[in-house]
Amino acid sequence: MAPMFVDSHCHLTLPELRGRIDAIRADMAAARVDRALVICTTLEEFADVHALALRYDNFWASAGVHPDNEGIEEPTVERLATLAALPKVVGIGETGLDYYRIGTRTHADMHWQRERFRVHIRTARQVRKPLIVHTRSASDDTLAILREEGAERAGGVFHCFTETMDVARGALDLGFMVSFSGIVTFRNAADLREVVRFVPLDRCLIETDSPYLAPVPHRGKVNNPSLVPHVAALVAQVKELSIEQVAHATSANFERLFGLPPTN
Ligand SMILES: [Zn+2]
Ligand SMILES: [Zn+2]
Repeated sequence: MAPMFVDSHCHLTLPELRGRIDAIRADMAAARVDRALVICTTLEEFADVHALALRYDNFWASAGVHPDNEGIEEPTVERLATLAALPKVVGIGETGLDYYRIGTRTHADMHWQRERFRVHIRTARQVRKPLIVHTRSASDDTLAILREEGAERAGGVFHCFTETMDVARGALDLGFMVSFSGIVTFRNAADLREVVRFVPLDRCLIETDSPYLAPVPHRGKVNNPSLVPHVAALVAQVKELSIEQVAHATSANFERLFGLPPTN
């Protein structure tokens, strides 16, 4: 039987997708996407994310607070560890650093974001679950904090990777995986495709980050997990492999990272 695809990162509770779960699941089945990890971005959102994972046996959930979110409940290690112990919660995040929207603030002003990131790393180490790391315009601090906090003992993934070869090397050196999204299919992403070529297949994941970042030929539309095979096809093309090899490897990597039973 041909291997199936996994979407390792999607946001199915956002308004663009939340009312369309039945249709999305039908599209996933038709596209041979058999599993998805539904990502949490605030504590307020967690119950909705978790409900999807409890309702459907091929959905899993994460617990975490995205670095872009302000004016929301701030996580503690204790709170995150409690959520992480619930059934079908397999990862901590998404967490990380994002200085892209720093605006007029200074680096020092973003201290709260670094503290929040450290809370997630400490939780991941304590509960022995992998980190789902978001980094944008902040790769030096992201890698430095991961190293300082001993994140290699938790492991994890740099999701929606858009950084340089050096940052990919830093992630790999920490024992992390690198997840590629629809951005790798964009015409202007030649440098990123070199990173795809560089990252060993046994350290690659694929994702949609839906509802954002729909891959070519759906660019600009609302994304959903059934489109993740387009990412796999690009990875296969760049690495000169078959799409079946990429489907099989990225599914096995997903199972290994998040501690799930093999299916392919
Ligand atoms: Zn992200
Ligand atoms: Zn995300």
